[in-house]
Amino acid sequence: MGPDVPREAYQLTCGETITLISADAAGLYYGVQTLAQLLYRDGAYPLGEVTDYPALPIRGFQFDLGRQIERMDYALEVCQRMSRLKANTVFLYVENGIRYESHPGFAAPGAWTMAETAEFIHRCATWHMDVIPIVPNLGHTHFIVRHPDYAHLNEGREGVRDSYGSAGNSLCPALPETRRLVEAMFAEWFAISPSPYFHISCDECHQLGLCSLCRPKYDAGGMAEVYLEHVNWAAELAVQAGKRPMLWGDQMLYWPERLPDLHSAVIIMDWEYHTRNGRSLNAFMHWRAEDTTGIFLRAGHEVVLAPYGASSHTAQFLNAYGRQPGVLGVNSTIWELSRTFFECEGTGIEFAAAGAWQGYAPDQAAFADGRAWMRFGSVGGDASALVDPCNSRHRGPVLSDLFSYITPLPKDALSRVPELARRVALTEMYAEETACDAERVRLTCETHLLTRELFSQRLREVMSQWYQALRHPQRTPPADTAARLRDLQYDLRNLRETEVALWVRYRPAEQTSSTLLAMHKLDEEIAAFLDHLAAGEPTGLERDMLVLHLTEPDPCFRRMTIKATDAEGAWQTIYQAYDGGSDPLRMKIFPLPAGLQADGTVRVTLQPHGEVGIRFLEILFADGRRAAPIAAEGEGFVRDAANVLTDDMRACWMNPDDVESTYLRHQHRPDLMGPNTLTVRMSDSPEYL
Ligand SMILES: [Zn+2]
Repeated sequence: MGPDVPREAYQLTCGETITLISADAAGLYYGVQTLAQLLYRDGAYPLGEVTDYPALPIRGFQFDLGRQIERMDYALEVCQRMSRLKANTVFLYVENGIRYESHPGFAAPGAWTMAETAEFIHRCATWHMDVIPIVPNLGHTHFIVRHPDYAHLNEGREGVRDSYGSAGNSLCPALPETRRLVEAMFAEWFAISPSPYFHISCDECHQLGLCSLCRPKYDAGGMAEVYLEHVNWAAELAVQAGKRPMLWGDQMLYWPERLPDLHSAVIIMDWEYHTRNGRSLNAFMHWRAEDTTGIFLRAGHEVVLAPYGASSHTAQFLNAYGRQPGVLGVNSTIWELSRTFFECEGTGIEFAAAGAWQGYAPDQAAFADGRAWMRFGSVGGDASALVDPCNSRHRGPVLSDLFSYITPLPKDALSRVPELARRVALTEMYAEETACDAERVRLTCETHLLTRELFSQRLREVMSQWYQALRHPQRTPPADTAARLRDLQYDLRNLRETEVALWVRYRPAEQTSSTLLAMHKLDEEIAAFLDHLAAGEPTGLERDMLVLHLTEPDPCFRRMTIKATDAEGAWQTIYQAYDGGSDPLRMKIFPLPAGLQADGTVRVTLQPHGEVGIRFLEILFADGRRAAPIAAEGEGFVRDAANVLTDDMRACWMNPDDVESTYLRHQHRPDLMGPNTLTVRMSDSPEYL
């Protein structure tokens, strides 16, 4: 090929003979992948000529080693598979999922060592896949500053808390020892990483300016001043090592006017998740500017798009920006907040790789057909249905608490059971039929995840019916509850065996399996429930309950407390959550402490990450009565919504479909980040349902 040929290009000619020429080694590799995809099962191939090269130079996805640690051989397997779809980058978001030689103390159990990681990088290179580390070194450093040996580096070390009430998520950027630590971590990466890029992270830094060293700078120039000094220093470290620094874009969106002060070499990774779907659910008010990528591009920074790992979202990013000058690529981000990579990854990351190659999103149906052809050798119908670009929605966790299965079923839930059962059968069938070992393993895993979801739906159906019969004296409890629960318990034990096998395959042995623990606890709870049922005793669900339905798009950094007054008028804590993390609060049903008065008061204190919706709140008593809110007062940004809420909340009985959401819009500004308290007085004469 000529001198002006783009990198990674190839030309494939299929006639009487097959000719493949390429711009470079990567182009040759991609040409071979295309040929492999074109071959029919009998070795025949279509005639024609393909000239092909990528629209975007960075085509990647990520592992979130900060939350869950994968087995390296599994991670390599995914990388090789993705390279065959012409992805050329894997991002490693690391936190303490890496054991630094200079600072081994804060590594998580099962963390990858630097030597192992070097080997990982080397193996990926053989598939023309670049490994770009994402290294938190300011915010998201709780794993460092909460370790006793490093607590003196905590920005909150003097006891001042941020407006979320927290003081343990950030390193203090003003301490020379912080800089030495960051330099040491970076140096270890520079020693093993041949990538031209290095990601300095620095997202969600909410805790800058707490300490007496940082405070003067904060008072003089705001948080931007403290932030930019550190970021520009960290970016320069990467530049000195011969790399282009990458940075998450969220913080700079608070102060877009300061973008000219950001190190000019920085490539922004724009992960704005919530504005491009036509309905704004984003965390930060002024991110409502739909055009976040445009803000960075106009300021002269190159951008990597970072949609979350679902096809629909990737399509929104790519179709808006994929062809704009200055856009370098895509990182299809999978965050392993409560689920591990093998539970989250679907064809979303494959869709992103294909889209990044062509610079715009593939047609989803055509993409599913193409993948079905590659995976199952057939197109359309059942095969394409198995290639679901959003299939993570079929893979819910198993909850550990039988109580949590009594939430009423959403409208579409019952229709999902037969659909899930059909998908399980299909996946099983293809797993048996396929001649490819890797594909069989993948489908076996998929079958398990679908079966797990099916189990949860069936359990929810049984428990919901039981609970609603309890709540409505005129209804009769289903007679076959015990038999159905025994069936489910048998299924649960089988699921647990498969889960153990999967765990061994995908995760380091040192890591704790929260799913297995949840399954064990649930098994015990079902057994106890059945015992009580057989003895004609209360089953434990005959309790007074508080029902709260919140919608919150992003659970990070949520603080939430729910208290209610008891017979003596004293506050009893019903629920407390810190650092949200794994548990986005949707509908929650909380058991109430004994002796709670019907005319009591309920207080909900929220310190959300961003916008939050409160839909309703009610108290359901074991004797069949219901208390609804009659008055509400709010402090903080909750204030404005309090009156609307009482109207909404009066309307419902555990049914989210009955009410419109009332969204509380939280502007992410320091002066509005204080406690937001909603105090609700409940009706003093609860009505029987
Ligand atoms: Zn400080």
